[in-house]
Amino acid sequence: MTEVNQQARRRFLKGLGVAGAAAATAAPMAAFANTSAEGVKWDKTVDVAIIGSGFAGLAAGIEAKRKGAKSVTIFEKMGVFGGNSAINGGLFAAPNTPMQKQEGVKDSVEQMVADQLAAGRGIADETLLRHVAEHAAEALQLTIEAGAEYHPYLQQLGGHAVARTYQTTVSCGAGITQPLLKLARKEGVEAVARIKFEGFVTGKDGKIEGFKARENYYFGDEKSGKVIFVRALRGVIMATGGFAQNINLRMAQDPTLTGEVGCTNHKGATGEAMLEMFRMGAIPVHLAHIQSGPWASPDEGGFGYVSNYSIYNFPHSIAVDTQTGKRFMNEIADRKTRADAELNCRDAEGNPMPPIMITSWKHADEHPNAKKVLKYNVGWKFDSLEALAKHFNVPLKALQQQVDEYNGYVKSGVDAQFGKNMAEAKGKFLEAPFSVVRLWPKVHYCQGGVQITKDARVLDSITGQPIPNLFAAGEVAGGIHGVSRLGSCSIPECMVMGMTAARSVMGA
Ligand code: ADP
Repeated sequence: MTEVNQQARRRFLKGLGVAGAAAATAAPMAAFANTSAEGVKWDKTVDVAIIGSGFAGLAAGIEAKRKGAKSVTIFEKMGVFGGNSAINGGLFAAPNTPMQKQEGVKDSVEQMVADQLAAGRGIADETLLRHVAEHAAEALQLTIEAGAEYHPYLQQLGGHAVARTYQTTVSCGAGITQPLLKLARKEGVEAVARIKFEGFVTGKDGKIEGFKARENYYFGDEKSGKVIFVRALRGVIMATGGFAQNINLRMAQDPTLTGEVGCTNHKGATGEAMLEMFRMGAIPVHLAHIQSGPWASPDEGGFGYVSNYSIYNFPHSIAVDTQTGKRFMNEIADRKTRADAELNCRDAEGNPMPPIMITSWKHADEHPNAKKVLKYNVGWKFDSLEALAKHFNVPLKALQQQVDEYNGYVKSGVDAQFGKNMAEAKGKFLEAPFSVVRLWPKVHYCQGGVQITKDARVLDSITGQPIPNLFAAGEVAGGIHGVSRLGSCSIPECMVMGMTAARSVMGA
């Protein structure tokens, strides 16, 4: 990190806490030591227990049933299913897909792994990345079989060498979680809400026999509901997601990520189940690598409308520092590169000066959110560069030069300023009328978690061996992506590792 950058991070939130101020402080956690199975009166017994109903839990549920599990139950603590999986862009990266064939995109498992290793900056887990890339197309197929619908075009997201990203037609992860939940139930998986996992019940040999939970639990009221004990004959698959909404825990990793910093996550992303796995001896990895989304807007809360809009538009837009009128980054670099560059956009006193993203209206309007960002006052439309410059107080001459220069790169196909891959910008000159949104990073994704093997087993930090009957998949598992996860690589990871955990628990 450069010195400027370090200072920028220290001042991450200064003056820009508005959108994030609504983020809930983590609910106080009940202290719970593991219970010995001896003498436990089980309230419920299942073959396979899955904790969490996001992509990882749902994929695990379907696959466990298909591999012959007699009874599979997904336990979800919130009142709704889907977790963070239901509230993101619904972007799914996979190599060698039918749409790549159709569009003539040359891609490979190796290329996708190489792109992710570069973003991971040397500390990603190559074995896991390859395993996910090898099975990503199969997982995508499962979502389609379940009824997920995708736009009829591919996108090339930041850090990806080629266009390999599908996106749901609703441009939201719920376009996948809802069909998966429906399919899971059709296949006989039971899914129950408002049951909160609180800790493990172990046998004499350290084997996971089941867990303690709270039935009829209401998020935020830690004493609500009734304590029950659930027995899991074959094992427990932990698919409980990340901890981005646990302010204390995230600040313990990175003190700049206070409660005032915006966050895209659902309020239940508090990480207590991960902590219980650590209590069991699981190995913590990369907990301090908490990713901020560079496509978020300071003008709205959560993931909002702008995130999706800007993810789609970055390839054919410019991001401009309002003080200089100049670009300051490759608009499709990996997330960390862009988030760090945005955090450096500040005035002389160090106050945040959110940069703006400028897009030709005719291209922006190809995205369903273009009109919505205008409607909800988180985006603006201008008939001329003069009007745009005046509104954001940008030096007009410098901005005009920047736009002319950039249009030269669109023509030549070579970005001499930041080396952006101009393939997706081909023929898309920046012309009035313009569409503009403001950008400022929001906490989005925890790259850290418990260490898992390629077969989704959770390792014991003392013995180095898998903890018997304990499996983990999705964001709760750490270390796969290293320093920076590439956009659209979480859904394939969750789905593939969820399916893998189910195969392992079933011995398939
Ligand atoms: P992933 O993308 O890894 O599947 P998500 O955030 O989409 O993760 O889903 C994780 C789900 O797990 C969320 O719906 C969350 O509410 C649920 N969850 C988290 N902790 C617990 C817990 N202690 N008990 C039950 N469910 C939990």
